[in-house]
Amino acid sequence: MIANATVLRVTFDGARASGVELARGGAIETLQARAEVILAAGAFNSPQVLMCSGIGPADELRALGIAVRHDAPEVGRNLIDHIDFTFNKRVHSSETVGYSLRGAVRMTAGFVRYLRGRRGMLTTNVAEAGGFLKSRPELDRPDLQLHFCTALVDDHSRRLHWGHGYSLHVCVLRPASRGTLTLASADARVAPVIDPRFLSDTRDLDALAQGARLARRILDAPALAQLGGRELYTHGEQSDAQLRETIARHADTIYHPAATCRMGGDARSVVDPQLRVRGVTGLRIADASVMPTLIGGNTNAPSVMIGERAADFIAQTRSARDTVLQRVDA
Ligand SMILES: Cc1cc2nc3c(=O)[nH]c(=O)nc-3n(C[C@H](O)[C@H](O)[C@H](O)COP(=O)(O)OP(=O)(O)OC[C@H]3O[C@@H](n4cnc5c(N)ncnc54)[C@H](O)[C@@H]3O)c2cc1C
Repeated sequence: MIANATVLRVTFDGARASGVELARGGAIETLQARAEVILAAGAFNSPQVLMCSGIGPADELRALGIAVRHDAPEVGRNLIDHIDFTFNKRVHSSETVGYSLRGAVRMTAGFVRYLRGRRGMLTTNVAEAGGFLKSRPELDRPDLQLHFCTALVDDHSRRLHWGHGYSLHVCVLRPASRGTLTLASADARVAPVIDPRFLSDTRDLDALAQGARLARRILDAPALAQLGGRELYTHGEQSDAQLRETIARHADTIYHPAATCRMGGDARSVVDPQLRVRGVTGLRIADASVMPTLIGGNTNAPSVMIGERAADFIAQTRSARDTVLQRVDA
């Protein structure tokens, strides 16, 4: 394994992927593949490396001076991600994770308890509960996911608040909005331009607004209502228009980008059903970028499963090749 290296592009011998070029410690190296090249750089970087290798929308590649190897218009398209809105509620109780003098005392006691018996508040994973809901009863499967956190989670915890509280995330499981990933440079060390175009399809805001109403019913139920408190950004907002405006201002990713190198049986798809990149040979992709669309849940386990399937496909290809070689030998 090589760590602390950035793959710059896939190298080719004719139409066949032969290895990768990478940058490591200020030097550029080329690695030769013995069989195939497997790209697994994730939904943002696999399309980037493909485009830097000349596989992508031809006009965009030419504009950056990249020689076009295969015109693949959907590389970097169809970007889809779970859009999420977080209800935050401040409470007076210091029982949740937070910042206060009383909280610091509790945390210190919790630390001692954890060291002694691996018990107490430090055993929390913060995101302690979850659920799947239908925004409308007539739907045949849930279209919203909830995550309940025992702390205030504002702007991915980049914005910290003095005091205590809890939060309830509402996430649209099958968003209709589609974004793009394009190159800012022909150099894969330069970050690509990511435009998720969240809420560009109004159905996503409709689902979030409906989900927010359902989430409020949970917050207002006796078990949580007894903690009292006040919503952080949505306090007193009752009208649909007010809620929608606040949601649109604060909703953000829950880190599940996918589908930028879509798998499919059609000629426009980036990889075929065996994860082989169309237009070249000896190159597969095995990560969340190949998902044809986003799944209705978290993406880590499905990404691992894509890796497992890729391993099966590679093993099948090798055993088929070995069988042919044995026949030739015989
Ligand atoms: C903050 C956060 C929290 C998350 N929480 C959850 C969760 O609770 N549950 C869940 O199911 N999912 C969660 N996810 C999503 C989950 O991590 C992803 O769906 C999953 O990791 C996708 O796997 P992947 O193989 O497609 O890409 P990645 O796991 O992103 O792997 C890509 C790898 O390629 C490397 N790479 C990229 N470009 C290059 C290059 N040019 N050269 C060399 N290496 C390169 C990257 O460093 C990375 O190691 C979370 C994601 C984030 C960011």
